[in-house]
Amino acid sequence: MRFIDAHIHLSDPEYASKISEIVEEARRSSVIALVSNSMNLETSLRSLRLAEEHSGLVYAALGIHPWNIKDLANNELEQTLNLITQQRTRPDKVVAVGEIGLDPQHAKKRELKESQLRVFQEMLRAAEKASLPVIVHSRWTAPRIFGILPSYNLRAVLFHWFSSPIELLPQLVERGYYISEGPPSVFSPRIREIIEETPITSLLTETDGPVRYWGQPFKDKTTTPAFIPRVVQAIAEIKKMNEAEVAEQVLNNFTNFFKVSPRPSASDKRHGEMQHKYHDRINVNENRN
Ligand SMILES: [Zn+2]
Repeated sequence: MRFIDAHIHLSDPEYASKISEIVEEARRSSVIALVSNSMNLETSLRSLRLAEEHSGLVYAALGIHPWNIKDLANNELEQTLNLITQQRTRPDKVVAVGEIGLDPQHAKKRELKESQLRVFQEMLRAAEKASLPVIVHSRWTAPRIFGILPSYNLRAVLFHWFSSPIELLPQLVERGYYISEGPPSVFSPRIREIIEETPITSLLTETDGPVRYWGQPFKDKTTTPAFIPRVVQAIAEIKKMNEAEVAEQVLNNFTNFFKVSPRPSASDKRHGEMQHKYHDRINVNENRN
């Protein structure tokens, strides 16, 4: 099986000293593509560097997160917008504008609310110009964002970790938007309900690492792409499909959404075969017990 992590913050400082471990763990777990999301200019540059260093495995999403509006430096918005414009000719490296959106919890004052909205609109415009998909943070704000999006001619939209309101889901799907869900697919009744209601053709998998999870079996563990196979297993349970079918469909969705076709490198292939042998052996042993 081959897996994808459509939303991880590989550019987060918490991962800085662990990149080679994370990448190695992704390969070992047959996760063949990671989209490194960004929070601001600095992490956008880092995502881009990671996409260059781990070409064919890591892809970059560039942008300014709604939590970072209050810390924006002079010209940071402009420079991030320029970066997006410059990179649009490199579809094998930069695959989206993200993570962008609105979050009232991080903009209590009116002024801040206004700049959050302005930055979001600028990011949408940049995505439109660069013909890149957007990855949206919509906590508490999905209906509002849903109302804003049609003003832009966007190539594709991903509502990452979509959690509410569930009534909006049919309309999101109808418009061709995608939903990505992560480890809460295993332990959160609400997220499981959302997965149940979302067609498998509109679903992507994510970890949102380094976010840590409170539910088992992820509790107190560093979040890595190695969590993805467990997420796929949960989706298969909910959808009453087999895991390989889910993994393959999610990979297809990834290709359709980001317009990249991740392929395992020669060494990944070898690794995959070894993994299979290893699993076969485990299965044999399990059957004996
Ligand atoms: Zn995120």
